[in-house]
Amino acid sequence: MNRTVTVVGGGAIGLSTAWELSQRGFTVTVVDKNVTGRGTSWAGAGILPPANLKHSFDPIDRLRGLSHELFPHWAEKLKVDTGIDPGLIHCGGLYLAESAGEIAAMSGMAEYWHEMEIECNQLTSDEIIGRESALASWWHETNNAAAWYVPDEYQLRSPWYLRALASACRKSGVSFLENTDVTDIRCLNGHAEMQYDGNWQTTDGIVLTTGVWTGQIAATLELELSIVPIRGQMLLLKTATPLVHSIINMGQRYILAREDGHTLIGSNEEESGFELGTTDSVLQSLLNFATHLLPELESAEQVRSWSGLRPMTFDGFPMIGRVPGIENLYVAAGHHRSGLHLSPGTAVLIADMLSEMTPRIPIDAFQIRKQQRNTPARSYNTP
Ligand SMILES: Cc1cc2nc3c(=O)[nH]c(=O)nc-3n(C[C@H](O)[C@H](O)[C@H](O)COP(=O)(O)OP(=O)(O)OC[C@H]3O[C@@H](n4cnc5c(N)ncnc54)[C@H](O)[C@@H]3O)c2cc1C
Repeated sequence: MNRTVTVVGGGAIGLSTAWELSQRGFTVTVVDKNVTGRGTSWAGAGILPPANLKHSFDPIDRLRGLSHELFPHWAEKLKVDTGIDPGLIHCGGLYLAESAGEIAAMSGMAEYWHEMEIECNQLTSDEIIGRESALASWWHETNNAAAWYVPDEYQLRSPWYLRALASACRKSGVSFLENTDVTDIRCLNGHAEMQYDGNWQTTDGIVLTTGVWTGQIAATLELELSIVPIRGQMLLLKTATPLVHSIINMGQRYILAREDGHTLIGSNEEESGFELGTTDSVLQSLLNFATHLLPELESAEQVRSWSGLRPMTFDGFPMIGRVPGIENLYVAAGHHRSGLHLSPGTAVLIADMLSEMTPRIPIDAFQIRKQQRNTPARSYNTP
C-alpha cells in the first residue's frame, strides 16, 4: 500500500496526523497557508489534565483517555527520532477554589474523576503548603478556600512540541507546502479535489485539519457554522526560578511555571471573530489573578503576551471523520481547549480510518457538519 494523503493545516492536529500516517506507509504532504505550527497550537499553554480511557464512557473522555495513554510514548518517540524534547513533564495539577460556586464545581469534578478512577485528593492546610509553599499567604488570607491535588496532570511546551512534530514528519518523508492557501474544495462524483496555487489537485485522502478556519475553506462543505473562534489571551512572566511546580488551576484560569522560571498565566474566553490581539483589561485581570495567588509574581519580569483562537463546537466534541458522501475527504477539527492534548488520539483515529481499520474508539459523537444538520441540503460544485 502506498496511498497519497494531503493534510491541509499544519497545527498540532495536522502534524500529528501527518506523522502517524507517514509511519503507516502513506505518502503525505502537509499544506499550510502560513508556516506550519504558528496557528492556535503555538498559542496553547500545554496543559494535559488527567484522563483514564479504561474507566471513561463519555466520548470526549474516551478520546482524552486514548491521547493521555499515548502521550508519554509519543513524546519519547519524538525526542528519540528528532533530538527535540517536547517538554512533557508529569508535574501534577493543583485545583483551587475560593467561592461557594467554585468549591461546588470542583467537588463535582473531583467526584467525576473518582468515578473514572482518576486520583484526586483534597488537601489539608499542611499538605497544600508542604506541596507549594508560595501559596501560603493566599491560603492563610483566604477564608474557606479549598484545594485538590491531581497527580496525573502533565505540562507540554507547545512550540517545542510543534517543532518536534514537524521535524519527525520531515524525517519520515512528509513533504511540506507552506504559504499555500487551500482556497476551495469541490466534489466530482463523490471524490474531492482541492484548489491551491490556482490549480485543482486531488489525492487518495484529503484531511482538513484547519482549526478555526475549517468552515471558511469551501461553502459547499457546509461547515461554516460548525466552528466558532473563541479567543484566549496569555501572559508570560519570568522569575529566576519557578515559584510553583504543579500547574495551578482555578476555574478556567491557570498558572503554569516552566522549569526555567518562565511562567504562563492564562486565560480567558471571548468572541472576537477571527481577530487576534490582546487587551490591557484582560492582561491586567490575568496579572491580578496570578499575584493574588502568588504575591511574589509582583516583581516578575513581564516577558510578553499573545492570543490564540480556540476552535469551539457547540456540543464540545471535535469533528473527526469522513465527510458524508465524499469518499476521500476527512475532517479533524474543533478541539477547542484541548487540541494539544487530543492530538495523538485524533491522529491515530484518522489514520485508522484511512487504513480501513475500525477506529480504536467509537467516533459517532464526533460527526461532521452537526450544526448544519437541519439546514436545507446544498448541492456540491460541479465544474
Ligand atoms: C490561549 C490558549 C490556551 C490553550 N491551552 C491549551 C492547553 O493547555 N491544552 C490543550 O490541549 N489545548 C490548549 N489550547 C487549545 C489548542 O491550542 C487548540 O485546540 C489546538 O491548537 C487546535 O489545533 P489545530 O491543529 O486544530 O489548529 P491550528 O493550530 O490553528 O492549526 C491549523 C492550521 O491550519 C492552517 N490553515 C487554515 N486554513 C488553511 C487553508 N485554507 N489552507 C491551508 N492551511 C490552512 C493554519 O495556518 C494553521 O497552521 C489552547 C488554546 C488557546 C488559544
